[in-house]
Amino acid sequence: MEQNKKIPVFWKSALADIEETASKVRKGNIRMIRSAGGRPVYFAQYGRKNDFRRTANLSSASGCGDIRCYADKTGPDIRPGLFLVGAMHGAEFEGTVALLNLINILETGRDFAGDDYPEWKNLDEWLNIYIIPCLNPDGRARVPFESVCGMSFEDFRYYAQGTWKDGSLAGWPDCKKVHPISDAAGHLGGYYNDDGINIMHDDFFSPMAEETRFLLDMADEYVPDATVLLHGGTNAPNMLLQPACVPMYFKEETRKIALSLQKRCQKHGMSTLVKDIEISDNMPPVKMNAVTAVTMKCGELCMTYESNQGLDRGELILTHEEIYKQHMLLFAEMIEYVRNLPERRAVKIAAAK
Ligand SMILES: [Zn+2]
Repeated sequence: MEQNKKIPVFWKSALADIEETASKVRKGNIRMIRSAGGRPVYFAQYGRKNDFRRTANLSSASGCGDIRCYADKTGPDIRPGLFLVGAMHGAEFEGTVALLNLINILETGRDFAGDDYPEWKNLDEWLNIYIIPCLNPDGRARVPFESVCGMSFEDFRYYAQGTWKDGSLAGWPDCKKVHPISDAAGHLGGYYNDDGINIMHDDFFSPMAEETRFLLDMADEYVPDATVLLHGGTNAPNMLLQPACVPMYFKEETRKIALSLQKRCQKHGMSTLVKDIEISDNMPPVKMNAVTAVTMKCGELCMTYESNQGLDRGELILTHEEIYKQHMLLFAEMIEYVRNLPERRAVKIAAAK
C-alpha cells in the first residue's frame, strides 16, 4: 500500500521490533505478561525502585487522611517516576515508535536514526522511567502495516474499530456500545485484544483482560508521579486530552502541562491543542476510563495523549518525522514535570489532611 513506501529508519512499530528492542535491554529490567492471544506484553523499567514504606492500599490511606500510608514520597531517597504506555489501541502505534526509540536512547544514547540524546542517555541516574511500548499486541497484530500514514479514513476505521456482523464499519464512538465486542464483530479491529476487550473501557473493578490488570498492577507497584497513555486520534491536532472523571487537581495539572507543552512545541515550530478543563460532576459519570482507573489505583496523575496519525484526510496531515518529534517533545515535557515534583507533593499531603 502507498502508506508503506517512505518509512523512515527510526519508524519501528512492528511486534518484531518490540521483541528485538526488549531483547536488547541491558540497563533496564524487563517484565512481561501474555495478552489474551498469548502475545508478550513488555514493561521496561529504568532507575532504582522506590521504597514507599507502604502499610495500606490507596483507599485505606485516603480514608485516614494520610496518603503516605500508601506511598510515602517524602524521603530524600525517593526518585521521581514517569510511566509511558503505548498502543492500548492496536491501530494507534505512533507512541510505540517513540517509546522504542526512547528505550534505545536509554540504552545507547542514540535513537534509531542515529541522533544523539546526551541529556537522556543517563536519565536513569535520577529518574525512574517505566515503559510499556505496546499494551495491546493482539490488536497490533490485526493491523498489518508499519505505518498508517497516507491511509484513507475508511481503511483506518476498518483496521482500527473493525466491522459489525453485517460488514458495516463499527466506527467511533459507536464501537463502544457493545463490550466485549467479539460476538457482535465481523472483522475484529485493532482496538481490542483477542477477547474483544477494549482496555480503555475494561471493567476496572474486576479487570477482564490481563493487559488491563498489568497496567493497573504496575501503576500500583511503582506509583509513578505521572502516567501518559499514548493514543492516536486520527488526524486531530496533537493534544493532551482533559481527564474527565478525576479530581479537579488532576484536571488543573493536565492543563498546566498542556500549556507548557504548547510553548515547548512552538519553539520547535510545531503546534498542540490545549483543551479547557471539563467540569463533569454530573450523573452519570462521563468518560470513566483507564485514565480514571490508573488515577484511582495509584493516586497520581494519568493523562491521555492523542497524536495526529498522518491519514489521508483533512488539512492537518503530519509526516512520520513530525509525529515522532511531537512525541519526543511530550517526553521532554513530562521529564521536566516530574523533575520538579517535590513541592507539589508537599501541597498534596497538606491538602489531604
Ligand atoms: Zn485510542
